[in-house]
Amino acid sequence: MTSRIEIVQGDITALTVDAIVNAANASLLGGGGVDGAIHRAAGPGLLAECRMIDGCPTGEARITGGYRLKAKHVIHTVGPVWRGGQTGEAELLASCYRNSLLLAREAGLHSIAFPGISTGVYGYPMEQAASIAFAEVRRWEEAEDQPKQILMVAFSAEAAALYRRVLAELG
Ligand code: ADP
Repeated sequence: MTSRIEIVQGDITALTVDAIVNAANASLLGGGGVDGAIHRAAGPGLLAECRMIDGCPTGEARITGGYRLKAKHVIHTVGPVWRGGQTGEAELLASCYRNSLLLAREAGLHSIAFPGISTGVYGYPMEQAASIAFAEVRRWEEAEDQPKQILMVAFSAEAAALYRRVLAELG
């Protein structure tokens, strides 16, 4: 079977997909990194819709419109802050991917793009985060028919190389 998981390098806000995933914070009211980039590209409508949601706990996800983005929707998920790995970070990070895919499936979406959740300001070591991310999306792909296309977005060439290695190791 051909994998539905693809690695893409670049800016997630430029992608034409049904949903891009935002590495948000629990307030859902915007922040730096990919969150800031998504809000800038989507315009003020996104923040207005986010204000109507009562935040989002770590590991969970919420869906909104995409506003001025090419993506039809944004799925906001809150990754764990890295505290050394002994405070449930791995399971929470896996939950972010799983819950985002669940929302995408429930909304009937065919394509979704993920950034490296928690690997920026939240400090999750890139390699460990990538292993969890790819294992979780692979598990999903094996069990579920939708979404048909799962893009894993690496922001840098270095991250893309790491992603290719982690995906190859999964087999
Ligand atoms: P977190 O707070 O969850 O760590 P960040 O936004 O700080 O979230 O970083 C998450 C990841 O997103 C990092 O690997 C960062 O390099 C990457 N990133 C930042 N901007 C973009 C973008 N425009 N497109 C794709 N990935 C991005």
